[in-house]
Amino acid sequence: MAADPVRTRFAPSPNGPLHLGHAWAAIVAHDRARRDCGQFLLRIEDIDGARSRAELIEQTLDNLAWLGLTWDGPVVLQSARVGGHVAAAERLKAMGLLYPCQCTRSEIAAAATRHGPDGLVYPGTCRGRAVDPAGAAWRLDMGAAMALAGVLTWHDEIAGEQTARPDLFGDVVLLRKDAPSSYHLSATLDDAADGITVVTRGADLFAATHVHRLLQALLGLPVPVWHHHALLVEAAPDGGPPRKLAKRRGSPALSDRRAAHEDGRALADALRAGRFPDGVWAGTGVT
Ligand code: GLU
Repeated sequence: MAADPVRTRFAPSPNGPLHLGHAWAAIVAHDRARRDCGQFLLRIEDIDGARSRAELIEQTLDNLAWLGLTWDGPVVLQSARVGGHVAAAERLKAMGLLYPCQCTRSEIAAAATRHGPDGLVYPGTCRGRAVDPAGAAWRLDMGAAMALAGVLTWHDEIAGEQTARPDLFGDVVLLRKDAPSSYHLSATLDDAADGITVVTRGADLFAATHVHRLLQALLGLPVPVWHHHALLVEAAPDGGPPRKLAKRRGSPALSDRRAAHEDGRALADALRAGRFPDGVWAGTGVT
């Protein structure tokens, strides 16, 4: 049987201007698709109403074009798909796998006993309790979900075969109090809706894939392969471990480079060749 044509995507959240690290992520996704004559999609993950900024969407398109990247099909706005995300959550509710949670951050901090990939692991306070669902967050009952799904594996093109460990996260939030869905649920559903066959993203999201693989199993979604690439990092001024680039720490925005008439295609080619600006390098390994 012929393999599915490769489809990748770049899925930035329009919360801040794109910087060099985003350029690198977009180039990895774009080149991974083009290498196999595949398709490269652009999806704007704009479900976080409080943080998303519409003017950054236009800038993103201009920045990618400036880097010489082309994408296939219309730009997808994740916010247009929230109805489908909520409907999937309703299915999980009907399966008895979600429960409402009214805990505040400080209550969680006071009761939590371990850390997971996203910080403190929710201690399960509201699980099995009668909680007012109005305005609540909805959490996945991780134990029940894993029991239903059984042992799951997934494949990363760089790190190889993985056994899914969503338990590391505990009972993750799938419907947020302050947003219509959540990253885990929306990204998983949209990758399926977009027919993505190779999910490329930074190694900082490696662990999130454990949760996404579980959601795919619960919702009967196709299973892509993943390609978690190294992040661009810089030295920490205090001598601590290298940290990923961030605009708020002074990594120049791509729009500023563009406004200064830098050659975007030359910059993209330099990144491809591993020629990074002084003090920046591609971190090794998986975080
Ligand atoms: N929207 C996410 C971000 O900007 C990326 C999501 C993904 O690639 O899965 O960090």
